[in-house]
Amino acid sequence: MARLIGAHMPTSGGGVPKAIRDGAEIGCTAVQVFTSSPRQWASKMPDATLIAETKKAIKDTGIDFLVSHDTYLVNLCAPTDDIREKSIKTLTDELARCSQLGIPYVVSHMGSLQGQTFEDGMQKLVAATAQILDSTPKDVCLAMETTAGQGSALGYKFEHWAMVIDALEADPRLVICWDTCHLFAAGYAVHEREGFEATVEGFHSLIGLERLRIIHCNDSMKPFASRLDRHEHIGDGQIGSEPFSWFVNDPRLAHAPLILETNEPESMHRINLDRLKSMLEN
Ligand SMILES: [Zn+2]
Ligand SMILES: [Zn+2]
Repeated sequence: MARLIGAHMPTSGGGVPKAIRDGAEIGCTAVQVFTSSPRQWASKMPDATLIAETKKAIKDTGIDFLVSHDTYLVNLCAPTDDIREKSIKTLTDELARCSQLGIPYVVSHMGSLQGQTFEDGMQKLVAATAQILDSTPKDVCLAMETTAGQGSALGYKFEHWAMVIDALEADPRLVICWDTCHLFAAGYAVHEREGFEATVEGFHSLIGLERLRIIHCNDSMKPFASRLDRHEHIGDGQIGSEPFSWFVNDPRLAHAPLILETNEPESMHRINLDRLKSMLEN
């Protein structure tokens, strides 16, 4: 099976169907989108026209690996009930919307402690995640994204996600999204051959690579273990070019599509895609 490589495509001026078509146009074989504004709570369910147009775009382009990224406001372990409840509702709606549109994955950064203890935050996160999975369609998976650990974000260690997965009895709809920039910034030495190997094997022994479904592919503007989340074009950052060839070609990762989330999508996505594709070994 061909290695799926794609990008987060802008939805301005045409929404999800146009984003899928634009992705195909620049050579994506997987596409990530926002299905609603990433900086707003309010969102609406898709109407029949949007559903039909999205399904037609999927059929016409042959791109059926689609991912939605949740809004940046979601914090499933927020200390205040108000924000936590809004977060649960927003993410629940997002999974419902994706089911209607034929998008099988929703990526979420899940939560930040914001002054709480790790135990308190984790308990809230697990309860919120259980509630979302219980009340949403079974054809959409929730992909927890590994974070850079910026601020008080959870999820910068594989152990955090292993705890959530264990607490939810290994629910098959709870999966993982890596982000190469976040791994590096969080202190996983994916820029060195030994560190890359330790990361892949460490994840496999703790969680299992079959649960890794998406890899966000971004170089990092900030140094190793900086806990800062700033994406850079492929090969132009602190990770450098060669490690991306490991992500592209490692057979253990081949089932997880690579998705760019780099800046300047209009001018640079095609170039970054070509950089990744030029690394493909066969
Ligand atoms: Zn990401
Ligand atoms: Zn990021």
